[in-house]
Amino acid sequence: MTEWAILAGRAQSQAEVDRWTCPHGRHAGQGCVTCYQACADADASLPLWEVAAWFTSARPIPIRALHDVHRHGQHFALDQPSTPLIFLLTGQVRAAQGVEAVAGLVGFLVQNRHIVDEFTVTEVRAVHSLTG
Ligand SMILES: [Zn+2]
Repeated sequence: MTEWAILAGRAQSQAEVDRWTCPHGRHAGQGCVTCYQACADADASLPLWEVAAWFTSARPIPIRALHDVHRHGQHFALDQPSTPLIFLLTGQVRAAQGVEAVAGLVGFLVQNRHIVDEFTVTEVRAVHSLTG
C-alpha cells in the first residue's frame, strides 16, 4: 500500500486536501507536532510506514545539521539530493494511517526549527512497510 502526493506546483482538490489532513486538522505537508509526538511513542501494534518528504528550504542547511537529524530523529535521515536547496527527509514511522505518518515526519521539521527554519514540502510518500 502506497500513499503518494505531489503537493507543490498545482492546486489540490478538496478531496485531496481532506485526504492529507491529519486528525488534528493540520495538512500533512505542513507537518503536525502532535502527530510527531504521537508516533515517537506509538504502539508497536500500529503499522510501520516508510515515509519520504521532499522539501525546499529558503536557505542552505549546514552539513552538520543534516547529520544531526539522525541523533534527534531516531529513525529519520535528512539527505540532500543533487539539486541545490531541495532536501529529502526519510524515516520509519508508526501510525494508524499514512497521513499521520507523513504529518509526523514533517512535524519533526516543525519541532526542530534549528535544522530548517523555512521549508516548503513539495512531495510526500508513505509506503506501508512489509518488514514492520
Ligand atoms: Zn496531527
